[in-house]
Amino acid sequence: MQFIDLRAQYLSAKDQIDSAVQRVLAHGSYIMGPEVEEFEELLANYVGVKNVISCGNGTDAIQLSLMAQEIGPGDVVFCPTFTFFATMEAISLVGATPIFVDSEPSGFNICPQNLASKIHEVKQGKLGKPKAILAVDLFGLPANYVALSKLAEENELTLIEDAAQGMGGSIVKRKAGSFGDIATTSFFPAKPLGCYGDGGAVLTNDDDIANKVRSLRVHGKGENKYDNIRIGLNSRLDTLQAAILIQKIRLFPSEVERRNVVASKYLDGISSNALGLPKLPSGFGSSWAQYTLLAESFEHRAGIMQKLKNEGIPTAVYYAKCGHQQTAYERNASVDASFPNAECYSERAFSIPMHPFLEDEMITKIISVLNKY
Ligand SMILES: *Cc1c(COP(=O)(O)O)cnc(C)c1O
Repeated sequence: MQFIDLRAQYLSAKDQIDSAVQRVLAHGSYIMGPEVEEFEELLANYVGVKNVISCGNGTDAIQLSLMAQEIGPGDVVFCPTFTFFATMEAISLVGATPIFVDSEPSGFNICPQNLASKIHEVKQGKLGKPKAILAVDLFGLPANYVALSKLAEENELTLIEDAAQGMGGSIVKRKAGSFGDIATTSFFPAKPLGCYGDGGAVLTNDDDIANKVRSLRVHGKGENKYDNIRIGLNSRLDTLQAAILIQKIRLFPSEVERRNVVASKYLDGISSNALGLPKLPSGFGSSWAQYTLLAESFEHRAGIMQKLKNEGIPTAVYYAKCGHQQTAYERNASVDASFPNAECYSERAFSIPMHPFLEDEMITKIISVLNKY
């Protein structure tokens, strides 16, 4: 059994993907070929945003967004501590200070109450000028953008959505990738919408930000790439990856649907009182990048994971260490540094197989092992 079955996904569209790759090899425009813009348009239509600017990976996408807002040394960006390292790393890469925020008590995403108090504390102190909130759609569930937008507005902060895991999620009729002033995503193979290497994108309705990001991704180009009007990056989506993504995005809506069927089978089937199941707030839709359960303790989690392993069922822990616990952030400036919810999740959360090709038989087996433990 696979944790995420990329092979089955490839086989489901092998002919289309193979010929798309062949077409790129035949025309030979490996960098910024026609497929890049074609894919950007398809993604913009799917998400419902005006501009999609593809780039080298999801980490660069965040960095490009921060650079476009001229966020750098002396600035503070708020982000969750319970997330993948790249979220906070991008903030540090531009020279700004990440200020970590705890997770919600009843969900894995950034806690708006804790964020409000962190913003207040930073405003009182000398850590830097508050500039942006970088929220994450962790495990596929959009963060609470209603509360976050309000905080961003009240405090004049840019709101950035890290939708690396969020593509396919939604709040009421709005899709993930459309929240805040700027959103970013990743096409790393294991993400809900992945390619066959590295890739990423910035999404925004703001044309000025979009034009800046288009310049920043090609060495800060002006008229052309030999006219350089700002310091940028070399961060483009390969034409080959765009060609693969054009095929994959066609299948994506039905894959998201199937992921939701798998999630509802888990929800109906897992009856153990000792396991916390992920809840969808009303009006929210998840892409189920991960299906993440909460064990009762660190030991309980280790026991269940071993039991599943013995039965040939793979599991994973996202994330065993929060940002504030990483060696790289030992000396990070901080305000109130207690993160009870995030630390509880890092000790107790674990993810079980989730992908559109998980067969009913496998789902039944996973549920029965969990219920017997
Ligand atoms: C994967 C991921 C990223 C980084 O994406 P890459 O394409 O690997 O650089 C950023 N944030 C989150 C939440 C992610 O899961």
